[in-house]
Amino acid sequence: MDVVIVGAGVIGLAVAEAMTGRGAEVTVLEAADRIGTGVSSRNSEVVHAGLYYPTGSLKATLCVEGRERLAAFCEQHGVDHRWTGKVLVATAADEVPALERIGAQAEANGARPLVSMSRHDLLQRCPTVRAVAALWSTGTGIVDSHGLMTRLRLLTERRGGVVLCRHGLVGATLRTNGWRLEIRQPDGSLAALDADIVVNAAGLQADEVARLVCQDADLPRHIAVKGSYFDVVGPPPADTLVYPVPSPTLTGLGTHLTIDLAGRARLGPDVQMGRASDDFAVDGSRAALFHQAASRFLPELRLDQLQPAYAGIRPKLATDRVADFYVRHEVDRGLPGWVNLLGIESPGLTASLALAQRVATLAGG
Ligand SMILES: Cc1cc2nc3c(=O)[nH]c(=O)nc-3n(C[C@H](O)[C@H](O)[C@H](O)COP(=O)(O)OP(=O)(O)OC[C@H]3O[C@@H](n4cnc5c(N)ncnc54)[C@H](O)[C@@H]3O)c2cc1C
Repeated sequence: MDVVIVGAGVIGLAVAEAMTGRGAEVTVLEAADRIGTGVSSRNSEVVHAGLYYPTGSLKATLCVEGRERLAAFCEQHGVDHRWTGKVLVATAADEVPALERIGAQAEANGARPLVSMSRHDLLQRCPTVRAVAALWSTGTGIVDSHGLMTRLRLLTERRGGVVLCRHGLVGATLRTNGWRLEIRQPDGSLAALDADIVVNAAGLQADEVARLVCQDADLPRHIAVKGSYFDVVGPPPADTLVYPVPSPTLTGLGTHLTIDLAGRARLGPDVQMGRASDDFAVDGSRAALFHQAASRFLPELRLDQLQPAYAGIRPKLATDRVADFYVRHEVDRGLPGWVNLLGIESPGLTASLALAQRVATLAGG
């Protein structure tokens, strides 16, 4: 089976690793100069436990399974990671019911347990964090996403897979014996490549890539939702991740505190809807909003500790409910062999290895 994967972010590379593992001949096309420079390079690098998403959704199922696969993969292949845990806080009495709902949701999702924290526990574990109630997630951690992608690429190439950077997909035609793909090469010329299976893992551009072959009005579209981060200078205010209660539609998880593998603390991402997909500038004047949000649970945080860091863009599907991942082999649209992956926002990094297995099965590998 000849498989072409469009996009060398964490999802495309995970699919490549899974499909070469099942014996497929895989070529990964990446329009950028290097792998992993898209959404996968601008996130929080948190390994989520699968607490929030509706039971049975792809986000919940693939996050819980992906977390376990990722843990095993990192151990086996020496990818840097740390089980930091995370504290979920209610900062006012009216947030407590929402916190309790997250506890119940996590249990229903089969996520690793959430443990109720007493005031004493909170004081012991995170003396600078203020909350009226808190839950401790044992299953949350952080991971070196670039180390993960490098390893997935290496495994793919060792099994004969090919990763071509500066090779963008610009057209595709369905023929009687599979797909004929049109590819822009580094010198600007066009080349043709044939494939039995095409996996569209083009991240933010995946909805545009899908429209190269399908004009259906109900094919989902992305809304670019920007999320900025601010570094917290000086000693980290806590040595674990601290999250508030999120909004009911889970557009974001609320401005939270993360720690990276170097021990640096960061706040974010916030939510700015409908931005350009390359709007990566961080507006320093938003520091006051971040400070206001975070000082509800970190009362000693000072505004002058916040410095603009970076921004990422979420490829969110337009819906007034909780958006799920869209993972389909598009046979019903008359596109046999074409798999679309749309709306792969958070927890896509955590879910990547489970999602990849799902795609390999869907594609018949
Ligand atoms: C602010 C933010 C925070 C997040 N935090 C977390 C987190 O803490 N934990 C977590 O689990 N998830 C998190 N996520 C989600 C996670 O980062 C994404 O789900 C994941 O990185 C998506 O990977 P991808 O491979 O689909 O996309 P990408 O990494 O964007 O890869 C797609 C690739 O396709 C290429 N491409 C596009 N068009 C073409 C074409 N025509 N031809 C060839 N190549 C093409 C692009 O250049 C790009 O490299 C976060 C996301 C954001 C935005």
